[in-house]
Amino acid sequence: MDGSLPIAKDAVTPEWMRRRTFAIIAHPDAGKTTLTERLLVAGGALRMAGQVKARGERRRTQSDWMEVEQKRGISITSSVMTFEAGETTFNLLDTPGHQDFSEDTYRTLTAVDSAVMVIDAAKGIESQTLKLLEVCRLRDVPITVFINKVDREARDPFSLLDEIGETLALDLSPVTWALGSGTQFQGCWDMVGNRLIRPQGESGTADGGRSFESLDDPAIEKLVDPSVLEQAREEVALSEAAYPPVDGQSYRDGHLSPVVFGSALKDFCVPELLNLLSRLAPPPRTQPAAPAPVQPDEDRVSGFVFKVQANMDPNHRDRIAFTRLCSGKFTRGMKLKQSRTGKPLAVQNPIFFFARERELAEEAFAGDIIGIPNHGTLRVGDTLYEGTETRFTGIPDFAPEILRKVRLDDPLKAKQLNRALHDLAEEGVTQIFFPRSGSGTVVGVVGQLQLDVLLSRLSAEYGVTAGFDPAPCETVRWVSSDDQKAMADFLKKYPARIADDRDGDPVYLAPSAWDLGRVTDDWTKLSFAKTKERG
Ligand code: GDP
Repeated sequence: MDGSLPIAKDAVTPEWMRRRTFAIIAHPDAGKTTLTERLLVAGGALRMAGQVKARGERRRTQSDWMEVEQKRGISITSSVMTFEAGETTFNLLDTPGHQDFSEDTYRTLTAVDSAVMVIDAAKGIESQTLKLLEVCRLRDVPITVFINKVDREARDPFSLLDEIGETLALDLSPVTWALGSGTQFQGCWDMVGNRLIRPQGESGTADGGRSFESLDDPAIEKLVDPSVLEQAREEVALSEAAYPPVDGQSYRDGHLSPVVFGSALKDFCVPELLNLLSRLAPPPRTQPAAPAPVQPDEDRVSGFVFKVQANMDPNHRDRIAFTRLCSGKFTRGMKLKQSRTGKPLAVQNPIFFFARERELAEEAFAGDIIGIPNHGTLRVGDTLYEGTETRFTGIPDFAPEILRKVRLDDPLKAKQLNRALHDLAEEGVTQIFFPRSGSGTVVGVVGQLQLDVLLSRLSAEYGVTAGFDPAPCETVRWVSSDDQKAMADFLKKYPARIADDRDGDPVYLAPSAWDLGRVTDDWTKLSFAKTKERG
């Protein structure tokens, strides 16, 4: 393959160069869970492919604290799975597929260097795939496409490629090809390694593959149905003429997406995908930060918190701050400075997440994700660093799309409610706003499902029963200005429409889009922002 990266476990290759930190993005049902499991098996992290049917059970053990997740069968929480394959250490970050959690997904994607986009071969690009793509775009995250379920009746491969190419607005480079589909499915052709991979046994899972001179090798005629082979030969020739060969540099620069046709369920082209990621996917990239971007080969340790999760283990009510390391060699016990508070933090018990267990992280490198247990000191967006003051940028809060006033059933529980709302806001589950008028707290979320999660967690974890009332506003904007007088005038003019966010920054509670437009036009010295940088 062209543009391959050197990866070796030797003294010359820096540890960070062997890291591949990536996420799988997909529309629900495209096969993300199945592919994840297969990758873990291919990487030796799981001994046996957990059947997808058993997934309910597995998920329960992972996150039995979250009832809503079980009930709805949706993976709400992002988790991290670290595994090694060959010389490469993979950090796979799970992204919630449900659209209500796009904000969480966005933040997870700030912590990866590349993404694998799973597409159902019968369906092509779906709504959620589109949304996730936009997010990858914003961060310039290189994408590998896995066209899944080729063992089923699939759409014409060229029409799929056309659609994907147009949507991504990138060059595509198919690296494997399916021989037939549905009942006619006869295997896959590895276009880079010139290998034929065929179904074996009753299960029809992939064999280990066999090398040939080319797909035109007459020996293949004994192995594949003649009409399927004829069509595949034509298609592969056409594909090779129409699409450029895979080029690692071009892919890492975000100009080209390799495309793998395969079947997660039947294990077709999963090892090929892993191999491709290992050889071509970007190692830890330079991260945007102030005052200057941080390079992965800098000696000093730095990283940022992209997710905070509470109560992962019901026996320990701690929180875990998922931290992406961006430079340096981290060792356990190290003291790092926290950007928001300027205070030092001794990281005594950092955790690595493996497929089935967790382990104390004795040392970690750029690209690695460590979980830092804490009691609320760490927040999403926080930078941890050694040396010169640094703050990673581009990890925003989004103006919530759904706003509600919280109604407390038992007024004596006001204190618990307050604490709970703060905790959950720190996690990034919801946002909270405190109207200066003193009327009840307003919560903001991106999707309806988050409201259900909120109520369920209030009750299960804090013993608070609550409900929602309509909020006095349709949307919110963060207000700021360099002109202190203009700002003061504004705050004075609309005392009933100003609230403070959890950091005490003022937001405008806009009763309608029309009103927001008017206020924005009238107060030209003020900025009304839809997002706010964290950290
Ligand atoms: P997710 O919602 O994206 O995580 O999708 P799942 O991995 O749960 O898969 C959804 C359904 O598609 C399940 O019933 C899987 O067994 C099935 N599935 C996944 N991959 C394949 C595949 O390659 N071939 C076939 N035939 N079915 C698949």
